[in-house]
Amino acid sequence: MSKSEEIAEIYKQYMMPTYAPSVVLDKAKGSRVFGVDGTQYYDLTSGIGVHNIGHCHPEVVKAIQSQVEVLGHCSNLFMHEGQALLAKKLVELSGLGGKVFFCNSGAEANEAAIKLARKWGSANGGRYEIVTMRNSFHGRTLATITATGQDWCQQGYEPLPVGFAYADFNDIESVKAAVTDKTVAIMLEAVQGEGGVNPATEEFMAGVRALCDEKNLIMICDEVQCGMGRTGKWWGWQNYSVQPDLFTVAKSIADGIPMGALVSNEKFADVFTVGSHASTFGGNPVACAAALATIGVIEKYDLLGAAAKKGEMLKAALESFAEKYDQILDVRGLGLMLGMVTEGPAKDVVQAFADGGVLTCTAGEHVVRFLPTLSMKDSHLEEAVEMMGETLDELFGVAE
Ligand SMILES: *Cc1c(COP(=O)(O)O)cnc(C)c1O
Repeated sequence: MSKSEEIAEIYKQYMMPTYAPSVVLDKAKGSRVFGVDGTQYYDLTSGIGVHNIGHCHPEVVKAIQSQVEVLGHCSNLFMHEGQALLAKKLVELSGLGGKVFFCNSGAEANEAAIKLARKWGSANGGRYEIVTMRNSFHGRTLATITATGQDWCQQGYEPLPVGFAYADFNDIESVKAAVTDKTVAIMLEAVQGEGGVNPATEEFMAGVRALCDEKNLIMICDEVQCGMGRTGKWWGWQNYSVQPDLFTVAKSIADGIPMGALVSNEKFADVFTVGSHASTFGGNPVACAAALATIGVIEKYDLLGAAAKKGEMLKAALESFAEKYDQILDVRGLGLMLGMVTEGPAKDVVQAFADGGVLTCTAGEHVVRFLPTLSMKDSHLEEAVEMMGETLDELFGVAE
């Protein structure tokens, strides 16, 4: 039995089968990961949107090492410099003039946003309902699967928490129709990730903002996947003319160390008060050090500019695939958050790409999702594109 088969066996026996993972990895560097058997892959998933600045970035590795040696954890009963600096930095990068709450994941950040909205709503007209979008994705806790407008992740978990209503993404009339006198917030992704890599339209974002202003609702953007430079801007919503009241960040904020954050504007900065929400690990010193280093790297190497430029490069390549093969129907996305719509099951294409040495993931049944590292070398991206082209030739039977 190979090492990889051995590990897969142990997974099978001891891991609850919530995932169906493929390759066994043991090393990574930049935009490449390596299987235990030594096979090299280009990782166009970045660990599902986590390693925006690349795997094992030396500046982040060093920050983590230095921090863990001096103060690994202290809880929020005490203060530490990293948390102060990171909160200040996130508020500055948002331009919203508010405050930050730290937690450990995307679901938790959204859970915090939901709780903040309810707390404010309870004091402002007894309102609690949150309108979310069909095909959205907000996490896997009970409240966040309910916020997620997709049946597949809710089925079997009933009864679900009350207080959520659904509207169609990019259809402002549908959002208006979902708002009642109990509505307190509208929550959405500027670019829907899991739901199929769907960017919001400018009209829609502006419409949601106007509706929130008119009805005194909180506009919440879930930036867990489209934030941290992924779309060529710090935050996905910065591609539009509007600002949300709250937004959530996680995935790539600390380049692989689990962390989540809720960022507010000034109006909602003091809705949470002492004791009203908490997290043991939230804003942990190691996570804060990693996040500060990650943000530093994005600034130092202009990875926002890189995301925009490489996004255009990859999009053009995917569009050329769509032109060449009838089985590829469309290409969409923003910056380095791209989706390729397939006629057949996307998972078959993802598997074939992996067999050919390029890791991608699905977003729904018919979309292959690309989330490469923003720091990926042009030559590596070109090589990955060439490898995918060869795979598609084999898969879709184009003669040489
Ligand atoms: C991944 C994701 C989440 C959930 O994040 P976890 O860290 O897995 O809890 C929430 N929202 C969006 C948009 C995501 O992509």
